[in-house]
Amino acid sequence: MNNCLFCKIVSGEIPSKFVYEDEKVVVFEDIHPQAPVHLLIVPKIHIASADDIDEENAQIIGHIFLVAKKLAKDIGLKKGYRIVNNCKELGGQSVDHIHFHLLSGRQMLWPAG
Ligand code: 5GP
Repeated sequence: MNNCLFCKIVSGEIPSKFVYEDEKVVVFEDIHPQAPVHLLIVPKIHIASADDIDEENAQIIGHIFLVAKKLAKDIGLKKGYRIVNNCKELGGQSVDHIHFHLLSGRQMLWPAG
């Protein structure tokens, strides 16, 4: 997508330091961290939101959760973590390229705001 911030980060047009990359996803630190660990797991293909998951692209979601689990193990998040996806306006999504927040390093609260 031409004007998508995360597509530009994925392609390198906007330089970013990836903490993890494979053929399907990149992972980088959130610019406004909400916890001591706050990573964004972003698929390389442009999918606008969770509402745009379909039979053809759904396998990326399982892959993202496997990457989250691997990162949590590598970073040493033994006590747990939270995975968040905000979907569209009322869900609080601000970047229209699907991504999952991996948060940890403090006690998470519920309900989310
Ligand atoms: P959302 O609100 O869509 O669920 O999450 C978007 C996240 O992207 C926010 O937590 C925001 O801080 C982060 N973000 C927005 N722009 C940038 C950027 O240019 N670089 C990085 N690393 N994170 C960004």
